[in-house]
Parts: sequence; C-alpha cells; structure tokens
Amino acid sequence: MDYDVIVVGGGPVGMMLASELALADVKVCVLERLKETTPYSRALTLHPRTLEILDLRGLKQKILSKGKPIPTGHFAGLDSRLNFSALDSSSNYTLFIPQHDTEKVLEEWAKNLGVEIRREEEVLSVRQDQKGVEIVAAGPKGESKLSAAYVVGTDGARSTVRKQVGIPFVGTSQTFTAMLGDVVLLNPPESNVVSRFSEHGLVMIVPVTSQMHRIVMIDRERMAVPKEEPVTLEELRSGLIRILGSDFGISEAYWLSRFGNATRQAERYREGRIFLAGDAAHIHFPAGGQGLNVGLQEAMNLGWKLAAKLKGRASDWLLDSYHAERFPINTALLRNTEIQTLLMSEFSPRMVALRGMLSELLHIPKANQLIAAQISAFDVRYAPDMDSPQHALNGSRLKELKLRLENGIMRNAYELLYSGSFLLLHLASDESLNDGAEWSNYPHLQFVRASLVEEAPEWDEVHTALIRPDGYIAWVVSRSVPEYLDAIKQGIRRWCGGYDFS
Ligand SMILES: Cc1cc2nc3c(=O)[nH]c(=O)nc-3n(C[C@H](O)[C@H](O)[C@H](O)COP(=O)(O)OP(=O)(O)OC[C@H]3O[C@@H](n4cnc5c(N)ncnc54)[C@H](O)[C@@H]3O)c2cc1C
Repeated sequence: MDYDVIVVGGGPVGMMLASELALADVKVCVLERLKETTPYSRALTLHPRTLEILDLRGLKQKILSKGKPIPTGHFAGLDSRLNFSALDSSSNYTLFIPQHDTEKVLEEWAKNLGVEIRREEEVLSVRQDQKGVEIVAAGPKGESKLSAAYVVGTDGARSTVRKQVGIPFVGTSQTFTAMLGDVVLLNPPESNVVSRFSEHGLVMIVPVTSQMHRIVMIDRERMAVPKEEPVTLEELRSGLIRILGSDFGISEAYWLSRFGNATRQAERYREGRIFLAGDAAHIHFPAGGQGLNVGLQEAMNLGWKLAAKLKGRASDWLLDSYHAERFPINTALLRNTEIQTLLMSEFSPRMVALRGMLSELLHIPKANQLIAAQISAFDVRYAPDMDSPQHALNGSRLKELKLRLENGIMRNAYELLYSGSFLLLHLASDESLNDGAEWSNYPHLQFVRASLVEEAPEWDEVHTALIRPDGYIAWVVSRSVPEYLDAIKQGIRRWCGGYDFS
C-alpha cells in the first residue's frame, strides 16, 4: 500500500482532512489537479463554528490575521441582519476572508504536519476491493497507479470519485443562474455594504480590498442564461442600473462568474473504503455562505474516525457514524439554502411583502438567535450514544471552558484539544482517580484533572467527561453515578477502543 489514505482534491476540505489525518500520524497524500490554489475566491466568509474548530487546532489567530471580523450575517439578504454577537462563544462573529487565503493557511498547515501534496495530478479512476483502493492519476509525467487503504473524495461538485464509485447525487437541477463580479468601482457606494431587493432583482455589494468590490446579482432578466455563458461587465452594469439606479463606475473585472441553484446530496457518504466530503457530497445555492464552512466541519468529523480505524482503535460503527451524523445536518442545510434561494429569486410584490414580514420577525431576539445558530452551525448536536449515561451535554459542542489545571495553570479547554486526541476531563477532584494510571498508556487519550474557573451551570454535576477530538462531548459521567469508574471505562472502551482495562 502506498498510503494509508489518499485524499482526492486539494481544496479547503481536502487540506483540512489531510491535516487531521496527519495529526493522528496517518500516512496521507493529497492529489490535486491544479498547479496552485486558484486566486479566485468563491467563499468570503468563515462562520463562528468554523472559527471554533480552527481554534480547537490552534489555527484561529493565524486565520484571524488574514481576515476581518463582522458581528452580523445575513439570511436571504433580508434587511434585518443576523446577530452573531449573541452567540455563546468568543468566536461570535463571521470572518470576512477570501477563500484563497483560507486555502493558503490550510495548505501550509497540512505541509507543516507532513502531508504529501502532489499537485498537477488529476485522478482518472478509482477502484476498490476488500484490501484497499487503487487510483489512476494523470500528471506531467504521464499516468501513475497509487494504492491506499482508504480514499476520500474532496474533489468538488463534479467529483470524479463520487462518479467512479457510483454514488447517486440526489436532488434538483439548476432552475436559474446568478452572477458574480470581482470588479473595480470608480464611484463605490457610500455605505460599506449594499444589499437591495427590488422587482428587478437582487444585488449585494461588499468591498473585498481597497481596490476591489464583490458584486453578487440575481438579475430578473438574466436568470435563464446558461451557467457556461461568460458574464460581461456590460451585463453587470445594466443590472446595477436597473436594480440600484447606478453603475457605481464599474470599470474593470478581476473575475466574472455565473453560478446556479442546483441542490444535491450524495445518497451516502461512504461506500466501503471510499468516503465523500465537502462539495463532492453536497451542493446548493451559496446563500448565507455555508458550503466551505460545513465542508471543514465534515473534515473534522471524519479525520479522527478514519485515523482511529487505521490504528486499530475503531470498529465499523465509528466509521459509519460519519454519514449518520453529517447527512441529516446537510439535509437541513440544503433545506435552509432552498428557503433562502426562494426568498432571493422570486421578484413579485407578494415576495417583497413576505421578505418585509420575515425581516420584522428577525427583530425578535429569539428568532434571530435561532437562525443565527443555523447559519453559524452552533445548532449542530449529534445524537447521544445509546449506551452513554444520561446527560444533557452528551452530543453537544464543547464550549470554551476556562479551567484551572491541577498544577495551577489556567487553560481554555480548547487548547487541550490542539493535539487532536480525546480529552478525558475530570472535574470532581476525586483523588482515587490516580492520575489516570488506568488509561495512562493509551496514547490517544489525554487525562486532565481540572476545576472550572467561571460558572458553567450545565457542568456543575459533571464528574468526568470524555470529549471527542472534534470538540463534541461523547460521554459524560455525572457525580451521582455510583460506579463512576466503571462508567468512565465503558465510555473509553466504546469511543477510544483498543484498550484492555485490567
Ligand atoms: C459564488 C459562490 C460563493 C460562495 N461563497 C461561500 C461563502 O461565503 N462561504 C462558504 O462557506 N462557502 C461559499 N461557497 C461554497 C464554497 O466555495 C465551496 O463549498 C467550497 O469551495 C467547497 O470546498 P471543497 O474543498 O469541498 O471543494 P473545492 O473547493 O471545489 O475543491 C475541490 C478541489 O478538487 C480538485 N479536483 C477536482 N477534481 C479532481 C480530480 N479528478 N483529481 C484531482 N483533483 C481534483 C479541484 O481542482 C479543487 O482544487 C461559495 C460558492 C460560490 C459558487
């Protein structure tokens, strides 16, 4: 076998996944057909949960240094903004950052972790049997054959891997197209950000750099134009005049593109030894800027599970939990983007009225928080393990607990997950747990004895919590459990596997 895992596609999701695998000491290679990262950035936003998962790996400061925090987001371009600052996190904003910069940070991280990145290698075919997967790729020196125990297709919407494996891409075809222009505006609008919906269409304008603005437009008169037809500056200019009454001196284009609203999801994210993640697994209209974000979260979900399987620490249920956990979340994502798409693409007086009413509803803090939690992925909660002791925290995301470790050092719980291992967090000052001797020779589990520095009522009754490498809570043993040691061991056996307790 050449590699443990081959990741096909070195976009943001592929780089994130490869890094997660390398962090767990897996021999991994990324095959990417492009010579270098494309300078054209589709995504411009990283949402709060994505910032949290980057924080879980110590990458948050790096990514923050490349972007600009914005405390609000939008739903369907409605006039009322979503208030992320109400979220219970220090990552309570969206980061405005071009996809190109995000990809650069992730690629550098992957390289630092020892991932082999083979650019200008296009995967042509993928075949699997009981023992492994064989790939044929074409590169500058011709075709080559590579083998791996597992393959993950992160090769985007037209995924070769998905087609080769024959996983159906179920959903609806494109019914209209929209336009994107990264352009120079000689007379930019006075307000920094413009979002206008009228009977003629929808336009959003944001500054990307001091010289360049991003225009996104659904022009009622141009919605039937095929995706393949190039966008022209003239097309954008006439749309701007119709919808906003000014062309803002549009004069030069860095990048023009047309995109559609096809909405599809892979019927399954796993076929034997082959997995799908990111746009290879789901596509939708880019409403609310969520595609890249959920892709990174998927990579974080799959990485440690696949690594555990390769290291002999996991049985198949853990690998299958990738589809089981992520598929319903993305089903909800597709629904959310379809609702936004409808609100953004029907230009009738009734729709204007409906948008006005929804905008008013977003003034209600609870309604605003509900939608902000969906867009930011703070509403993600995995089904608790059937065998776990009952506790409300099971399946939820770990919040940034401030901890005092037994040596007196203060730590944010997120810092304890930088290494990508499980965290066994003991909060009950129980001396009979003798420094984790029971599990100290388990390499992928970190035992930490600590106390809470700030009030966190939901943690009051927690004796010990097992936290997954991706920052979700797997198994909580509360102080009322009499046989707590057995319960802790049961959780470790179930989730971390491969450990024989005496
Ligand atoms: C207009 C627009 C705006 C968007 N804005 C946002 C936003 O603000 N926020 C957000 O979260 N998302 C946004 N998205 C979505 C986001 O861009 C995608 O979800 C994201 O790029 C998906 O990442 P990926 O790594 O899965 O796939 P991709 O970025 O498509 O990367 C796939 C990689 O695989 C490579 N590849 C493909 N086939 C092969 C092969 N056979 N062999 C080898 N390599 C191959 C490609 O060259 C590419 O590098 C937007 C999308 C659009 C169209």
